[in-house]
Amino acid sequence: MFKEYDVIVVGAGHAGCEAAAAAANQGSSVLLITMNMQTIAQMSCNPAMGGIAKGQIVREIDALGGYSGIISDKTAIQFRMLNRSKGPAMWSPRVQSDRLRFAEEWRLMLEQTPNVDFWQDMVKELIIEEGADGKRAAGVITGMGIEIRAKSVVLTNGTFLNGIIHIGEKQFGGGRASESASKGITEQLIKLGFESGRMKTGTPPRIDGRSLDYSKMEEQKGDENPSKFSYTNTTALSEQRSCYITYTNEAVHEILRTGFEKSPMFQGRIKGLGPRYCPSIEDKITRFAERERHQIFVEPEGWNTIEIYVNGFSTSLPEEVQYKALKLIPGFEHVKMFRPGYAIEYDYFPPHQLSLSLETKHISNLFFAGQINGTTGYEEAACQGLMAGINAHLKVEKKPAFVLQRSEAYIGVLIDDLVTKGTDEPYRMFTSRAEYRILLRQDNADIRLTPKAFELGLASKERMRRVEEKMVASKEIVKYIKETSIDPSTINDYLGSIESSPINQRVKLFSIISRPNVSINGLRQASKELEEFISKYDEECVEQSETLLKYEGYIEKEQEMVDKQVRLENLELRHISDYKAIPSLSAEAKDKLNKVKPQTIGQASRIGGISPADISVLMVYMGR
Ligand code: FAD
Repeated sequence: MFKEYDVIVVGAGHAGCEAAAAAANQGSSVLLITMNMQTIAQMSCNPAMGGIAKGQIVREIDALGGYSGIISDKTAIQFRMLNRSKGPAMWSPRVQSDRLRFAEEWRLMLEQTPNVDFWQDMVKELIIEEGADGKRAAGVITGMGIEIRAKSVVLTNGTFLNGIIHIGEKQFGGGRASESASKGITEQLIKLGFESGRMKTGTPPRIDGRSLDYSKMEEQKGDENPSKFSYTNTTALSEQRSCYITYTNEAVHEILRTGFEKSPMFQGRIKGLGPRYCPSIEDKITRFAERERHQIFVEPEGWNTIEIYVNGFSTSLPEEVQYKALKLIPGFEHVKMFRPGYAIEYDYFPPHQLSLSLETKHISNLFFAGQINGTTGYEEAACQGLMAGINAHLKVEKKPAFVLQRSEAYIGVLIDDLVTKGTDEPYRMFTSRAEYRILLRQDNADIRLTPKAFELGLASKERMRRVEEKMVASKEIVKYIKETSIDPSTINDYLGSIESSPINQRVKLFSIISRPNVSINGLRQASKELEEFISKYDEECVEQSETLLKYEGYIEKEQEMVDKQVRLENLELRHISDYKAIPSLSAEAKDKLNKVKPQTIGQASRIGGISPADISVLMVYMGR
């Protein structure tokens, strides 16, 4: 039944689904092999997409032709734009998702994607062959003993490689609750010269929403005018479900402490490092012992389910301790648990073993994406899957790799961080990781990236036309605001209403728009002329123009920095095979450069331990 495929994707989590779709949409024949067809695009932990920095990534995936944004829109139960009170670089869209519908919609999208075949099985081994320039991946061997050949292979095994689940003193093999662990791949890769490590993550208990008393909690509604992720024609929500907020207390903490002697984390049974920014509740009450309470978000799992996700209460303490502690949380007095929280330990491969295309350095035509690279989070996994899928296809086509720069996308920042700096704790994205975050906004991801998707064959002409129209529209609005003046009599009432000082002579609209509380939508209510001009344009273009105008100085400054950095980024180091041959480099620099094998001077300069002096040596070596 199996022909030779262009690309085999192993695993159908968030990384695997995006990888399969991207490779297939560019024209590769793709086989998606996964252990369980019923758990395609399963949300292993919280039913939510986006959030701070992660929301920007979802918009970037969408702009590049990935599906995560579309599926998030179709399956959302609540939308919130986080950080609206801060500058636009910080605005981050987030949805609460319907867990079951999310997985169902992903499967539907893949089933409707031409060129994607499916096979349910566990991959145990890779077919590795000796090529002209070293070893290359040529397919996989499954648990059923079937050999399937492919020109490129993408591994997206998530938390499944030698996964061990912990609840109190109980421990058992598993890749996720009720799913078996994956064996064989780590062992083979180690034999082939790969380094592997161990990480851990955890998840809270799931509970019965009918057993809660919501009157004791604060309601958290979605946005009044909800937006959406995708730049395509998905629709924003017309109805939303609320989340609720409650808090732990000293009595809850006291009960949790009674479980510490059976805690797999505190008793040393878990060796892997967990996500620092997503600590378990036992970790929180130990690390922040002075805090009397911790926030708990009560999040519905979907439109038509009573299941609730207890965000903020991730734990691997014994299930009876979890239950007793939950009962002491206000609103949870009669709680019924569906299943306890647990922790999971799994293998990952330190990502310095990859090049920026996500192809491994040891074995060509083999790509890694998602949690296997030491990241945590659906969005982080999905964007790597998209990039690995694109590059697996380009490799088959013998075309140059597609790499995003740090100044072009959060996705570029993420992959550069992983490959250049490595990670020994689960890596998640934050806005602070991006040095050019005023350029990398959620509102302009389509302008930054859709032209690239168009060149790759991942965006249609129609989609490209819409982006071009948006660019033209934003320019027209900016020009109008810069060139048009306004009278005090037209504007002073509006300025008074927002406590902004009045003007006493005719001024350019541009000089007013930069004031803190002034908005284009506010100004258009005061000025008929402006209203007439602006009403031709979509709200999205108006919002974008406002950002361009208000932050013009900052945007220009960042762009200048990018232009300077580009010169370093373009100096290629690929031809240097052994840095020990460059005598003036420090010993540490030689070791680190040999380990990472940076592709450019820019990448070399970001490796920890590489000093400006080392960079000067490299520049001299390369004859400037
Ligand atoms: P996964 O979503 O894990 O998907 C892996 C896929 O590969 C699955 O379909 C599996 O069946 C398949 N597979 C594995 N091995 C094989 C094989 N050999 N052959 C065939 N198929 C295979 N993220 C957060 O951001 N915050 C959290 O708090 C958080 N907590 C988590 C708690 C738990 C218990 C778990 C399990 C995950 C948690 N995550 C959390 C992580 C989040 O689920 C992952 O980051 C994300 O799902 C990773 O996506 P992925 O595609 O890399 O892998």
